[in-house]
Amino acid sequence: MQSKYTGYMGRVIQIDLATKKISEYPWSDKERELFIGGKIMAAKILCDHFKGTEQPFGDENIIVISTGPLTGTGAPSSSRFNISTLSPLTGILASSNCGGSFGYYLKKAGYDALVIKGKCEKRTWIEINNNKFIFHSADDMWGTKISECQTKLAGKMQAAHGEKAKYGHICIGPAGENLVKYAAVLSGERAAGRAGVGAVFGSKNIKAITAAGNHIIPVFDAEKTLEWNKKWFKYLKKHPLTGNQLPKLGTAGLVSSMQMRGLLATKNYTYGKNTDFEKVNGETLAEQYNIVNKGCMTCPIKCARTVEVDGKQVKGPELETLGLLAGGILNDNLQLVNQWNYQLDELGMDTISAANTLSYAMEANEKGLWKNGLEFGKTDNISQLWEDIAYRRGIGDELAEGSRFLSRKYGGEEFAMNVKGLELAAYEPRMAAGQGLGYAVSNRGGCHLNGGYLVILEGLGLNTNPNTPKAKADFTMLFQDLMEMISASGQCLFTSYAFFPGFLITQPNGPVTKAANAAIPHIGWALRFINKCPTTLAIHLPVFHHTKIFPYAVNMPMNFGKYIRCGERGYTLERYVNSRFGITEKDDKLPQRLTDVPQNENNPKTVVPLDKMKKTYYAARGWDKNGVPTKETLRRLNII
Ligand code: SF4
Repeated sequence: MQSKYTGYMGRVIQIDLATKKISEYPWSDKERELFIGGKIMAAKILCDHFKGTEQPFGDENIIVISTGPLTGTGAPSSSRFNISTLSPLTGILASSNCGGSFGYYLKKAGYDALVIKGKCEKRTWIEINNNKFIFHSADDMWGTKISECQTKLAGKMQAAHGEKAKYGHICIGPAGENLVKYAAVLSGERAAGRAGVGAVFGSKNIKAITAAGNHIIPVFDAEKTLEWNKKWFKYLKKHPLTGNQLPKLGTAGLVSSMQMRGLLATKNYTYGKNTDFEKVNGETLAEQYNIVNKGCMTCPIKCARTVEVDGKQVKGPELETLGLLAGGILNDNLQLVNQWNYQLDELGMDTISAANTLSYAMEANEKGLWKNGLEFGKTDNISQLWEDIAYRRGIGDELAEGSRFLSRKYGGEEFAMNVKGLELAAYEPRMAAGQGLGYAVSNRGGCHLNGGYLVILEGLGLNTNPNTPKAKADFTMLFQDLMEMISASGQCLFTSYAFFPGFLITQPNGPVTKAANAAIPHIGWALRFINKCPTTLAIHLPVFHHTKIFPYAVNMPMNFGKYIRCGERGYTLERYVNSRFGITEKDDKLPQRLTDVPQNENNPKTVVPLDKMKKTYYAARGWDKNGVPTKETLRRLNII
């Protein structure tokens, strides 16, 4: 242990793939305090490395795989780890969070993070076992789909370490090998799906990494940590969202609420409602297809579904996949979505980008821009298409480049549903203006979570005015910073759902809920103050358990204000790195369909009023009018 803080293992390891040299990456306690772990730590390492001239598939790109201080400490939903790199899909920072067991086992091996540089000359899988780093040939695994690769890895680990070998792993499928720009990295059934991190693995000839070891993950005060975690588990289990809706219906449970509020992206975001939604909602998935609920390690929420495909029990679709591969392409066959979801996981491909690239292609075909044989509602050629994308055959080769590439080639940028090259999730933002702002400014491109997930205020938890721009910029900043920090700590973002007192969710028409919904657009000034001076909030909030665990488990002083400030530091740091790659205000835009074409033709307000919100957002963040963090802001946040 080389840190005064617990929770951490105190070591970061640098792997040079070209020379196979393993060395310590210097990481001090000061850096732990400022950059915590996970995606924020990764952003700092990438910031110190990138000049802005690097190419995603160039040898000079690096991959940072990092855990958080809470990963593996028993805190709720804390098995998470993060992969950050330069994205081949967007050309800017990618950060992708995953819930499999790799993060836990990386810490068991004795490490908080890996910094991977260079490129393997040959196809390789890397075995990490305590202080051993072994580079194995991956020739016999190359070309395998995910479950076959995982079976082969299991065989090798058992042969070397016995039947009961315990280890975590990450691997890529054919999509990563063939540099599909939205290829994923899988850990068990969970995916670090977004922004093409799997393709960067492929470009470096890494098929898989395993981690194992017998280190103990230290916590500062084991008794208090356990006590607090028990309280926290209980709170999450009692909360209507984390204790009822998510366990019962998974994220798919949101389909019906989204339909009700016009938030369900339908026919490539032409509409916000899907007339066939009852055939493809969470209730139907739960009643007709779900076999058993599953979840990540130490998670009381267990949001994952299990369905049957080809006689096997496999992971069911999440809301985004369900929305985009059902209503998004006018398909009302839920079992097909289950099948495609499994197929995309097996190929190692992000379901959101794959689905949105497909719906763009269908619309381009419908409008006569690109004759490709893909039609809304026509599903018989889709299974084959996924294979063609993963192996880059026929039109699959072009679809593998994503919707931004295609729209630049064939036209139709106004309906290519991406921001900065990253395809949007299933939330239609014309009935959730704040979510629209989040998509536009999100550091990794069009991401609902990295965007701040304001849709939870605008219809999916509370029900404030979805079309007003008022206070949305301030809430966006606050939620982004909170989620940045939850992720950096090593926890799942769904733990933040319990931030809203349960009665606000169970009593949507109660007087307090109504008052809260009415008040939200008018409290921007208060949030602006909190965002500006978070350290004045040196308290723990009873609804937000994430801060109090820090002194118990990590031996690090923490309070709500400090927590937000750390999140702000991370968010601004990522933007600072992106600005080196040329990102400015002009890139914080949405496809014109969302800003210029009202969802309801009789209500001109049903667009995203982006420009107004953007100005307030930049001012709140201390970024200049071009959307670039000012020197003063960077100094205030100890970034420079
Ligand atoms: S809420 Fe779902 S995604 Fe998050 S840790 Fe739990 S099971 Fe995994």
